[in-house]
Amino acid sequence: MNDSSTSSTKSWRQRWITGPIFKLFKSVTPRMSQTEKEALEAGNVWWDGELFSGRPKWRRLRDLAPPHLSTEEQAFIDGPVNTVCAMLDDWKITNEDYDLPTDVWQYLKDNGFFSMIIPKKYGGLEFSAFAHSEVVLKISTRSVSAAVTVMVPNSLGPGKLLQEYGTEEQKNHYLPRLAKGLDIPCFALTSPHAGSDAGAIPDYAIVCKQDFDGEKDVLGMRVTWNKRYITLGPVATILGLAFKLYDPEHLLGEEENLGITLALIPTDTPGVNIGRRHMPLNLVFMNGPNSGDDVFMPLDWIIGGQARIGQGWRMLVECLTDGRAISLPSLSVGAGKLAARGIGAYSRIRTQFKLPIGKFEGVEEALARIGGLTYMMDAARIMTIGALDRGEKPSVISAIVKYHLTEGMRKIVNDSMDIQGGAGICLGPRNIMGRVYQAVPISITVEGANILTRTMIIFGQGAIRSHPFVFKELEAIGNDDPEQSLDNFERAFIGHVKFIITNVARSLFHGLTASLFVMVLGKKPIRRYHQHLTRISAAFALMTDIALMTLGGALKRKEKLSGRLGDTLSYLYLASATLKHFEDNGCPKEELPLVHWATRYCLYKAQNSLHGLLQNLPNRPVAWIARFIIFPLGRHFSPPSDMLGHQVANILITPSEARDRLTKGLYVPDNTTDTMGKLEDGFDKVIIADHAEKKLYRGLKDCKPSYKGLEDLIKQALDKNIISEEDAILIRDADKARTDIIQVDDFAKDYK
Ligand SMILES: Cc1cc2nc3c(=O)[nH]c(=O)nc-3n(C[C@H](O)[C@H](O)[C@H](O)COP(=O)(O)OP(=O)(O)OC[C@H]3O[C@@H](n4cnc5c(N)ncnc54)[C@H](O)[C@@H]3O)c2cc1C
Repeated sequence: MNDSSTSSTKSWRQRWITGPIFKLFKSVTPRMSQTEKEALEAGNVWWDGELFSGRPKWRRLRDLAPPHLSTEEQAFIDGPVNTVCAMLDDWKITNEDYDLPTDVWQYLKDNGFFSMIIPKKYGGLEFSAFAHSEVVLKISTRSVSAAVTVMVPNSLGPGKLLQEYGTEEQKNHYLPRLAKGLDIPCFALTSPHAGSDAGAIPDYAIVCKQDFDGEKDVLGMRVTWNKRYITLGPVATILGLAFKLYDPEHLLGEEENLGITLALIPTDTPGVNIGRRHMPLNLVFMNGPNSGDDVFMPLDWIIGGQARIGQGWRMLVECLTDGRAISLPSLSVGAGKLAARGIGAYSRIRTQFKLPIGKFEGVEEALARIGGLTYMMDAARIMTIGALDRGEKPSVISAIVKYHLTEGMRKIVNDSMDIQGGAGICLGPRNIMGRVYQAVPISITVEGANILTRTMIIFGQGAIRSHPFVFKELEAIGNDDPEQSLDNFERAFIGHVKFIITNVARSLFHGLTASLFVMVLGKKPIRRYHQHLTRISAAFALMTDIALMTLGGALKRKEKLSGRLGDTLSYLYLASATLKHFEDNGCPKEELPLVHWATRYCLYKAQNSLHGLLQNLPNRPVAWIARFIIFPLGRHFSPPSDMLGHQVANILITPSEARDRLTKGLYVPDNTTDTMGKLEDGFDKVIIADHAEKKLYRGLKDCKPSYKGLEDLIKQALDKNIISEEDAILIRDADKARTDIIQVDDFAKDYK
């Protein structure tokens, strides 16, 4: 075709096809608020983009090296982190002192725990995201209150904001002080009237001039705010504050409403009310309200100075990814590892009906969830953190791990409580899960409350950012040059149509052939899972387009539907991470039950999310057709089988390399005065005595029943040569440890 016929085809197409579609798109596309736009533009697209593509390039994922610790980072974890863990007595902290002990605070400050993200040139530790995560994880298995205290200054707050946007003067002043612990930071965004909808904060500042600090007519602002729930607030020396800035007297320019702005305020500034505290479910990390009424401060206190006025929201969302992907996911995996090791051991030690409770099928189900979910969550943590360490800013994925790892923690902790029965309920120094149980709702609520994160953020942001064409189409619509706008739209739109047709064909074909013809490299059984995930990815991409086409802008309000799409994307991500983790570990055979369990769980959940979406899609004829394309032979995936659950549970209650790898990173004290130390010791003793105990109880079937207890039974068994003297010692040791471990704490009647 020559140039003139090409251009006439194009103009014909634009006049009759793509032009009208473009107009229609423009009219139905909802207007995005500035805060939504900035949130969408934050971060970048990574593996989420591949999952949206319908054809993920598994090799790309496989080729990524897993994150690792430097020698210095490993030494920090083996040294100061272990030291601080040994210093922490969580019961005393949460029940008597309501604060970390003074020596712990000092140790944390002196050893740079609050400066993991601060560069070395300012005196910080400048740790990798992986080291940061391992530190939080380990401390959380000892004391959640201490872990939260450590994680907050290293997450989204003054330290991070200063590094990214601070003026040189601000960086040189504050960062060395933060690194040494001379300043304790907090960051205040949440107001009583603006929680999840943080962009709607009512806190405001008015640009004005006033004498300040001996200087005349200083250009500044009068700030009025009322914040709550601010972590470290009661002990903070610098307050990071978000407010809306107004310039009614036009001291700065034409604009009156300047937008959300962030400032750093020394907390001893007159007019700052700070110091009172909330009590977040008995986790006693410092958290409280703060306020100020018409407090004057110079414009120099704005983070980044005047150049950053009005950029506060963008700054916050740009910095959110790292903290959201590290802090709570690490804490959640910590809970999983604690449960897998501690509750696994307890299930083997505690006997009822003459059997370890972990051998009952009912308890096995709960143990399988603990093991399988912990493996999946750890895999997702490590894969995400690996991406951060390579410089990615995967904002959608950070929301996925925040939501799914905290929810996984909730399931694991609930199962742990059930397995322990009364021993989980009675609080005291012996109880390892009670405070973790109380921590669950906190992790669910902070850094984006979970309901909102699931139903609004993950898919809402993902569909636009990670979809191969939607963002391009939206960008084209927003382009001010009409000709270029239509050209760009057309290009994206044609690509989009081809994409949909391909996904229809691939979903149907792979559905009919049980994904057997998906071309992926790799060994069984991993290859088979990659094939299934590719099929689900194609179905997910197709359903995304169907939902967008049939609902348009209304999908934003249909949170039950977008939540299900977000779930499908999330389970694709979690399964990808599980398979990568297994491969990165060298495909050890003994880990296979964990991999099978976690991947089947994800496939089943992803399938059910799609099915739920099809059942509830308002456009029924389209839903029926889509259902035929995606599930032509019905639903294919089942939840992990009972046998698989049995194998996973067995890993938790039997010593093995798989158990050690699953629980790596957990703090285990090397004494038997502490509950976790007792569990380790008791577990070993019970395992060693297992054979002797079996001999004793089998042999005693022929003996007289005894009401005098174990010692009498041992005596009878020794007399009848059922057990040896060595067996008797092992049985006595195990019984002593078991009797100690099953005790719970009691207190004086007046609880003093
Ligand atoms: C212990 C703790 C520490 C904190 N630390 C800090 C801190 O250091 N700095 C700071 O600024 N803030 C902090 N926060 C505040 C935290 O970020 C907020 O609690 C959180 O944003 C939720 O706001 P909210 O509690 O007002 O709940 P609300 O916004 O009232 O939400 C209530 C429920 O409605 C749901 N919801 C709201 N909107 C939607 C929607 N559109 N779609 C679906 N569901 C929706 C939410 O998911 C939630 O389940 C902390 C909170 C706690 C509890």
